[in-house]
Amino acid sequence: MLVGLFIFYIYQGMTVVAALAGVALITTVFGCVVLHELGHAFMARHYGIPTLDITMYPIGGVARLARMPRKPREEFMIAIAGPAVNVVIALVLLLINSVLGYGISMAEAMYTQANVLGMLMWINVSLVVFNMIPAFPMDGGRILRAALATQLDYRNATHIASLAGQAIAVVMGIFGIFSGMWTLPFVSMFVFMAARQEVQNVMDRG
Ligand SMILES: [Zn+2]
Repeated sequence: MLVGLFIFYIYQGMTVVAALAGVALITTVFGCVVLHELGHAFMARHYGIPTLDITMYPIGGVARLARMPRKPREEFMIAIAGPAVNVVIALVLLLINSVLGYGISMAEAMYTQANVLGMLMWINVSLVVFNMIPAFPMDGGRILRAALATQLDYRNATHIASLAGQAIAVVMGIFGIFSGMWTLPFVSMFVFMAARQEVQNVMDRG
């Protein structure tokens, strides 16, 4: 896949160095997503829950746990562990960028494409923001349910978290249509179905 990407970049008229940098960046982003999933897996293991496997999808990874934590505190800690890894990576990159004296504003790092470390920092920040959206299957959905489950029973907490997720999905979809961001309606459809699926999962488990 990476060789194909390299050839694609060359075909696009990039220099060999720029193409290699592009491949290195994609590989590193992939690594950051894997570390995020390992964050979930390590925290789950801390609570005695093994991870069956970690699957990588184009829009992110999923760590499949042997069982779902039922205690709100455990679900919260396992869900927050993934984004926490990206926060740590972003802070380390911020430190390195500051020491090297690189410009770290989003405009400087992302759009001039001169600062790969700054770009990586912002990619990690966006991974945190995206994952904290309070809708299943994002980590924010689980964090919201965990917060609700401290006050409500697990089923009601799941129902309310799922409704919040569906509402966010609808708003995201409408925004996508009106702003011409055509990938958004597809992502929101996926989020909408995941919210309903989560309720079904809890009902099936009883
Ligand atoms: Zn996660």
